[in-house]
Amino acid sequence: MSTGMLFDIRRYSIHDGPGIRTTVFFKGCPLRCAWCHNPESQSGRPELLLHPNRCIDCGACAEACPNGAIRRADGAWITEHARCTACGRCVEVCYAEARQIVGRAYALDETLAAIERDQAFYAQSGGGVTFSGGEPLAQPEFLLELLRACKAAGLHTALDTCGLAAWEQFERVLPLVDLVLYDLKLMDAERHRQYTGVSNQHILSNLQRLCEQGKPVWLRLPLIPGVNDDEANLSAAAAFAAGLAGRPPVFLLPYHNSAAAKYAGLGLPYRLPGVVSPDEAHLHAAAEFFTRAGLNVTFGG
Ligand code: SF4
Ligand code: SF4
Repeated sequence: MSTGMLFDIRRYSIHDGPGIRTTVFFKGCPLRCAWCHNPESQSGRPELLLHPNRCIDCGACAEACPNGAIRRADGAWITEHARCTACGRCVEVCYAEARQIVGRAYALDETLAAIERDQAFYAQSGGGVTFSGGEPLAQPEFLLELLRACKAAGLHTALDTCGLAAWEQFERVLPLVDLVLYDLKLMDAERHRQYTGVSNQHILSNLQRLCEQGKPVWLRLPLIPGVNDDEANLSAAAAFAAGLAGRPPVFLLPYHNSAAAKYAGLGLPYRLPGVVSPDEAHLHAAAEFFTRAGLNVTFGG
């Protein structure tokens, strides 16, 4: 039986599709969005995440580390992430729970058992299961097996995707997917590359093909002040969305900087320091671009 690299399975989710859902978070993503609020989703391997505010300064982690990745400097224990192999020994000895390994291999039956636990809630609320990440299509075999099993159990399935995958991968899973949550970020290819590490060309063409097939799609646009909230980008995004078959609804997701501590805990740079969340007026002004284009707009979701 196959396994998949996941970093969380979250129950009672109400923001990843209709109704009450269980969201399965795949680890590993081909994009590196500067605003990513799940930076632990990006690498496809287990990682060490630190919670320094919980540290009681005992030094047990430094003694346990076989790689000499933890040292004392300026009155604190410093972890060099570049030397860390995520072996987890320091986690085992840290009674303050200031250290955590994020991500592990989940067996198919273990994942299914977690999903099927809340079937009664799905039935009552019109919910189901959402495969998110990271990018689920980066682990296509595991995703396919999960989808087959979920459909056999009669569950509503949603795929939350960044859109960067070979079209053949979409074709394999689409018959088993009821709804696609699709990210729309930046319309200019060069700026898309600057902020995510990749061009948007393939992502946009996959989205067009998906909509032409008649598959229900919800567009999700994270609104990030100073990055993609300018008139040129919002006009272009609205025109593109309005030109898609089926004219999918648009969900505007306000940026928030709550993930900054996670970047530090993973030893990753945070590329948007100082960017603040858009306020209500800002959100409504952005929504106008889409409503004027005749699209249905929702905040959050
Ligand atoms: S073992 Fe945990 S509590 Fe002790 S120094 Fe290391 S991180 Fe801090
Ligand atoms: S997880 Fe990293 S820091 Fe912790 S003991 Fe292993 S190598 Fe050392």
